[in-house]
Amino acid sequence: MLKMADILDENDKTLRKISEEVTFPLSKEDQKAIDNMIKYLKDSQTPELSEKYKLRPGMGLSAVQIGILKRYYVVVHEYEEGKFDTYVLINPKIKSNSQELIYVEEGEGCLSVNRYVEGIVPRYARVTMEAYDRDGNKIEVRGREELAVVFQHELDHLNGIMFYDHIDKKNPFKDKEKMRAI
Ligand code: ZN
Repeated sequence: MLKMADILDENDKTLRKISEEVTFPLSKEDQKAIDNMIKYLKDSQTPELSEKYKLRPGMGLSAVQIGILKRYYVVVHEYEEGKFDTYVLINPKIKSNSQELIYVEEGEGCLSVNRYVEGIVPRYARVTMEAYDRDGNKIEVRGREELAVVFQHELDHLNGIMFYDHIDKKNPFKDKEKMRAI
């Protein structure tokens, strides 16, 4: 089981590395890591369990965040109270995206960043991701709003990019009028 302490902190330089493409079949370690990531994200969004296991809630986790430099991530999206959709994206790419940009008004969060960071992180409002599933089948996944933000946030991790890299240091709310808050 993954604990908070297993998730790398933003000061860890591993998070700045570029993760490598995955080859199939997936190794047992990767399968296990994916199962653990799913469990963490689901438990962390279930109040009794997040309290019991002291888990900070999160929707997405990339392999690099638990020290595995491979191109995959997991997203667990609570689409209705207590109901979750799970996405496992391996070797993901953005296939297409909306012109419209959005940003998370309360600020983007990250399980590796244990502090509040203010400012705008521009994201596409809608994306279609192309990736592989755990069995090596090519898949396409669409995300909009919050889900689109997470898909892009996690993809950044695979390229060593942190969400706050997108925030203008001198003017954190730059271009606010050009995008929609969610
Ligand atoms: Zn993150």
